[in-house]
Amino acid sequence: MLSHQETQNLAAQRHYDTYAWCSQRAWIEIDIAALSHNVRHLRRLLSPRTQLMAVVKADAYGHGAITVAQAALEAGASWLGVATVPEGIQLRESGIDAPILILGATHTKEQIQAIAEWQLQPTLCSPQQALIFSTALETIKNPFPLPVHIKLDTGMSRLGTDWEQAAEFVQLVQGLPQLQIASIYSHLATADSEDTTVMKQQQARFESAIAQLKALGITAPCLHLANSAATMGDRSLHYDMVRVGLAIYGLYPAPHLHHTVNLRSVLQVKARVTQVKTITAGTGVSYGHTFVAPNTMRIAVLGIGYADGVPRNLSNQIQVLVRGQKVAQIGNITMDQMMLDVSNIPDIQAGEVVTLLGKEGESEISANDWAEKLNTISWEILSGFKHRLPRVALM
Ligand SMILES: *Cc1c(COP(=O)(O)O)cnc(C)c1O
Repeated sequence: MLSHQETQNLAAQRHYDTYAWCSQRAWIEIDIAALSHNVRHLRRLLSPRTQLMAVVKADAYGHGAITVAQAALEAGASWLGVATVPEGIQLRESGIDAPILILGATHTKEQIQAIAEWQLQPTLCSPQQALIFSTALETIKNPFPLPVHIKLDTGMSRLGTDWEQAAEFVQLVQGLPQLQIASIYSHLATADSEDTTVMKQQQARFESAIAQLKALGITAPCLHLANSAATMGDRSLHYDMVRVGLAIYGLYPAPHLHHTVNLRSVLQVKARVTQVKTITAGTGVSYGHTFVAPNTMRIAVLGIGYADGVPRNLSNQIQVLVRGQKVAQIGNITMDQMMLDVSNIPDIQAGEVVTLLGKEGESEISANDWAEKLNTISWEILSGFKHRLPRVALM
């Protein structure tokens, strides 16, 4: 069934969940009301017959897959998208019975067996993969045709059969009694760009492939193409379903999409002050002394570090919210700890809780702020938070 590594990953996650109650140095708070708000407002962009798939891969972009999946389904999502088989199994084990699409590729007998057993739905990227599935399902005597999703490459050059070969691919799958086509889809490479040229070319290719199929008398039960940016930016890309990740977590894929829908940030990263001390001018702080006190100052130690998912390259670059005020992080971020300049916060004491990402009063620090400093994207920041940060759901 699951590989040794996959079993260990699930066990590790259970360990962190079981002992979350005594891990009070740092944690992630998940605002369920904000998540529901985002799903409902994204739904308002869609026609009533268009379904919303909540993309919850990578532990729901670091937010915690089970909590997010349950809340998204309640708020109006009807499908879930994951990247891997164990991610799908985790949702099924928690009792979720909504349809689950595995967006990544699967090939091995063990994966196929698990997909059938847990009623997950695979992406088929090539004729060879379709044949492997067909043979494996025959071997295990799977009693029903397995719903599968045909992936076309229209310009992303990642998974999928080239759009010009769509007809041959679909006809081959139709000829395999173990498989039943549930949808045909493709993925956009530049949906968050203000220049829509490539996106429109991908859409034209997708529609051309669908038209070819139609000419052969084949109509797909469900077509889908849009990620968050396309869902927010262009209604003509919605088709029968949209696959929304980043936006349900309350982040905008690009600044020019801000006006299309009002989103609320779901995740907050919190940590506790573990010690406060005064240092004198000329005193170095943390490994390598990359920060040296210019004058006498008060510093606070925080119980969170790069092994929790705060990138070390942010050292000396970020601010943290303390009582609604932004204070500077100083010195190199270490594996489990980092330091702050709290000279302007009177009476701060060990035990006080501060906000690394999130809102305090009118001040907010978002994953986008970190991403910009690192020349990366908010997707990478969010999915980088580790399991040793407990996820606490705020209802
Ligand atoms: C991750 C992913 C999405 C969601 O993308 P967002 O930009 O986060 O909305 C949609 N479709 C596929 C195939 C994906 O891999």
